[in-house]
Amino acid sequence: MNIGFIGIGQMGRHMARRILEAGYDLTVHDLRKEAASPLLEKGARWASSPREVAQFCQVVFSSLPTPQSVEEVVYGLNGLKSGWKEGDIYIDMSTNSASTIRRIARDAEAMGVSVLDAPVSGGTTGAEVGTLAIMVGGDTLTLEKVRQILETMGRGIFPVGEVGCGNIAKLVNNLISLTTNSITAEGFVLGVKAGINPQILFDIIKVSTGNNWSLQQMPDTIFKGNFEPGFKVSLGLKDMGLALDLGKEFGVPLSVGTAAQQELIATVKSGYAEKGVQSVILYLEEIAGVKVRTSQ
Ligand code: NAD
Repeated sequence: MNIGFIGIGQMGRHMARRILEAGYDLTVHDLRKEAASPLLEKGARWASSPREVAQFCQVVFSSLPTPQSVEEVVYGLNGLKSGWKEGDIYIDMSTNSASTIRRIARDAEAMGVSVLDAPVSGGTTGAEVGTLAIMVGGDTLTLEKVRQILETMGRGIFPVGEVGCGNIAKLVNNLISLTTNSITAEGFVLGVKAGINPQILFDIIKVSTGNNWSLQQMPDTIFKGNFEPGFKVSLGLKDMGLALDLGKEFGVPLSVGTAAQQELIATVKSGYAEKGVQSVILYLEEIAGVKVRTSQ
């Protein structure tokens, strides 16, 4: 079976490598050919367009930044749709909107192509070591056909419901995690401004009720002045926007999420869009006139 992978970014480069290292025949594509170089050196095949990937492969994965980029890959000039064959399977692992992937699934189904959405959580470390949580929307028969490939990338594979439901679960997760990311930054800037050592604060909160994922990353990121992505602020803002859209669609007020969205906007406006999402603390530090560091 020939497998395709489109979008060789922070996540995709690890996920595609794991598929390749599991012994599958892999064809890759990205807007930036240089991003694929390490995979090509390991034996992956390069395709110059999504269409070429679809023509050559029976199963195609994508890990792309936005719903617009997924649409471009599927419907654009030389897109997947122009190369699909009956019986093909397309699995989008991007954090996408449910409505976008549902429209794609309808169009694909009319061509005899099955679609799953399978967004992931666990960050670049989870992608690197193959421990991602994978939230799958779509029919279970199709999932069973690709389960072994998904298992090269993740430990937890969660069937959620019909296509699009994977992304709904993912957006709920990110609504929670991005809000927690913001409040953790606020708490530490407050604590340090009020005179507490950040390491002592960390040691306390790690074993207290404020413990969370963003907190656990702090010794390797904020404390060392490391703001490299990881998960970019621009993508966090995209996910928060998609989650708030979902709230609007279903009439659920998301006041705390809206506040976290404002902090992500302020972080982007401060020039940190392409830095890691831990950078929300930077504009708060500037306002407070302190730095939450244990070393520089
Ligand atoms: P990224 O920006 O690092 O990588 C995206 C890749 O897609 C880039 O290499 C880019 O060149 C390529 N690309 C963009 N448009 C394209 C197009 N039209 N055709 C071909 N290639 C195109 O993003 P990432 O951090 O790897 O995230 C990918 C997806 O996974 C996003 O939807 C993100 O929200 C989600 N995600 C990211 C993380 C994380 O920690 N980084 C965690 C979970 C989920």
